[in-house]
Amino acid sequence: MTQGRIAQLSCQELVELITEYLEGTLAPADLARLERHLDGCDGCRAYLDQMRETIAALGRLPAESLSPQAEEKLLVAFEGWRKGSRG
Ligand SMILES: [Zn+2]
Repeated sequence: MTQGRIAQLSCQELVELITEYLEGTLAPADLARLERHLDGCDGCRAYLDQMRETIAALGRLPAESLSPQAEEKLLVAFEGWRKGSRG
């Protein structure tokens, strides 16, 4: 393991990358960071599940990602989950 200093992805960055992730067009370095983040973040895992459900329902990716407002709400929700889920 020589990858000492990979910057941690924030939830917001993950939300921004999720479309590319689901399309499979994410750069390998970003993919690694994203998956690492998912490993430790229940909120983003839930978000990813939701995205997958949306895609299953639509049969494709949503044309636009979330509006900034919706994204903000989501990030607030993430905070809540994180506080709630860890003791
Ligand atoms: Zn997250």
